[in-house]
Amino acid sequence: MANSSKYSVLFEPVKIGPVTARNRFYQVPHCCGLGHLRPRAHAAMRAMKAEGGWAVVSTEEAELHPSSDLSPYPEQRIWDDHDIPALRLMTEAVHDNGSLAAIELVHNGNHSANLMSRAPVLAPSDMSVDLIYPKQARAMDKSDIRAFRRWHRDAALRAKRAGFDIVYVYAGHRMTLAHHFLLKEYNDRADEYGGSLENRARLMRELLEDTKEAIGDECAVALRFAVDEMMGPSGMQASAEGREVVEMLAEIPDLWDVNVSDWSNDSATTRFQPEDGYQTSYIDFVKKLTSKPVVAVGRLNSPDMMASMVRNGVVDFIGAARPSIADPFLPVKIRDDRVEEIRECIGCNICVSCDSFGIPIRCTQNPTMGEEWRRNWHPEKIQAKGRERDALVVGGGPAGLECAMQLAKRGYEVTLAEAGDQLGGRVLQEAALPGLSAWKRVADHRTYDLSQRGNVQLFLDSKLSASHIAELGISNIFVATGSSWRRDGVGRTSRAPLEIVDGASVFTPDDIMTGTVPASGPVVVYDDDQAYLAGVIAEHLAELGKKVCFVTPASMVSPWTQSTLEQTRIQTSLLQKGVDIMPHRQLRTITAGSCDVTCTFTEQAETLGCEAVVLVTERVRHTTLFDELRQAGADGFRAATLELIGDAAAPGLIADAVYSGHMAARNFEQDPSEVEAAVFRRELTALSGT
Ligand code: ADP
Ligand code: SF4
Repeated sequence: MANSSKYSVLFEPVKIGPVTARNRFYQVPHCCGLGHLRPRAHAAMRAMKAEGGWAVVSTEEAELHPSSDLSPYPEQRIWDDHDIPALRLMTEAVHDNGSLAAIELVHNGNHSANLMSRAPVLAPSDMSVDLIYPKQARAMDKSDIRAFRRWHRDAALRAKRAGFDIVYVYAGHRMTLAHHFLLKEYNDRADEYGGSLENRARLMRELLEDTKEAIGDECAVALRFAVDEMMGPSGMQASAEGREVVEMLAEIPDLWDVNVSDWSNDSATTRFQPEDGYQTSYIDFVKKLTSKPVVAVGRLNSPDMMASMVRNGVVDFIGAARPSIADPFLPVKIRDDRVEEIRECIGCNICVSCDSFGIPIRCTQNPTMGEEWRRNWHPEKIQAKGRERDALVVGGGPAGLECAMQLAKRGYEVTLAEAGDQLGGRVLQEAALPGLSAWKRVADHRTYDLSQRGNVQLFLDSKLSASHIAELGISNIFVATGSSWRRDGVGRTSRAPLEIVDGASVFTPDDIMTGTVPASGPVVVYDDDQAYLAGVIAEHLAELGKKVCFVTPASMVSPWTQSTLEQTRIQTSLLQKGVDIMPHRQLRTITAGSCDVTCTFTEQAETLGCEAVVLVTERVRHTTLFDELRQAGADGFRAATLELIGDAAAPGLIADAVYSGHMAARNFEQDPSEVEAAVFRRELTALSGT
């Protein structure tokens, strides 16, 4: 065990009120799109964290009353006793793996619009709901506050009955009533719950005391509190009221779970917070003010950083949401001296995007995330090979790398051929753009793993044709040849190629990412992809000193990035770099020195002077090799297995490419009719009676 290693401090048990965590690894609450709708999937996902060594495993926010109804988002729910059996699935699974289970009780105030329950929305003061919906929250009167305290207490008692060891009071992310009461911006009350900080913190204190009184004999009571809103003096600051709150309540909770607010700051992407451990400078005062254990987050991936944070008295627990998603076995790998095997989070927020869409969680680095129950996938285990001996993977992008790695784990002799001089494919290209360097970890993790295995042969500078493959004679072939960006402008808005006049200077993202950039500006970046790439390319060109005009049929820059909590930052950054933004414009014609655009509503035309246009629209799949191999039977070579994976099969996110490679490796040598029939397991509502 790790007792002799330099990380042994991370494996000390820590007491939290009446319970004891077996080590210092703490999976803080995080959304997962499973929640109350998918309780078996939820329990299995949390249990995997416990199996991987996280001593505390938390739920996502758990709505405690119908007046906190986040529908249609499937968060956790503990409205009444009917919710207990589903929650008990999780606590039992977590306990079976030796860990403590925590529940984050929440009342979301005006952040929940109660669209399903149709209950009145509650807030400290009258205000709009935090959703574009014509509905307002009403200021809670004293009887509302008494009712809320009772609901919270009842939910805590139910949580105890469901088997939770730690119960949260949640005042963070600008998403909860306790937080709203605390923040001046939300609270203009004139009674004892408004005005001074002491008054604004009164509800939080009462909730903590009520919860301790109700269940504190057996359960620890944790406080999740955002010490700083990263808004300077216009919000709560760790140097001012944030600190005073900790001083005021220091010894009341059994555990302080501290972070920054809002969620986009707490779950900042590497694009905007490149440093892992970025929250430390905000929260490091907390432990000096309380004798109670402290947990904090901030993409803590590095064991050295973790150990030094504990040794330097910054935290007692290493908190993680995303690092525990990317690698549920992070603690076990540290314990067993397998640090180089950790799949580090790349800070891309694809996991977060799933919450934004209300769908089960997925992760770029960990394709098994969210699939623990429905596909019975384990992040560290895969079935051994069958009768076949070898496999060839063509293409070393994220799909090919993942597929090759999993096939090698299964025990096949794996040959991976890559046309370029490095492994990584699009990951390397995109990682070279501003702010995305951490994405390279997707390639690094897999390249390292493959390099450690005796049953893998890697070939670079090896662009394979069907005849090469026939010569090789390996008949199980996975084709991961990727895709490239279109040069004709076909995309969401135009299904026909644009009119591009001879002499016009047109670039694609592939050109830009491989260093072929317009010699001079102004440059129009046309975004009909509407995801993330055009925004990064515009930023890159602006940093190269080009005058950039960002043209898009969408109403904003990179609208998809709202789901990763980045859109505001991206648009702000482009504006600050002097990029002109023209929304609601469809590109029509590109000539030498100009392009014509029309308004997406009125079709009013405009001509923009520009030296070059970068088209970010759609991708073309690279299927030539696959198509040749399908025909190759005529020449005497026939593949026993031939599968197209990753972007060559369907261009999408890097996460999709990794998932596709993983799936292909798992399905290899399975009965094809079973694979075809095996829709993942679903949690269907059982109908009974009439
Ligand atoms: P994905 O996201 O599906 O992994 P990428 O575009 O990132 O797709 O990666 C595809 C990789 O396949 C690229 O690195 C490319 O160089 C490589 N490739 C494409 N065609 C061939 C080929 N015929 N032989 C070997 N490698 C190829
Ligand atoms: Fe990290 Fe991205 Fe995985 Fe989320 S999806 S855990 S940010 S690697």
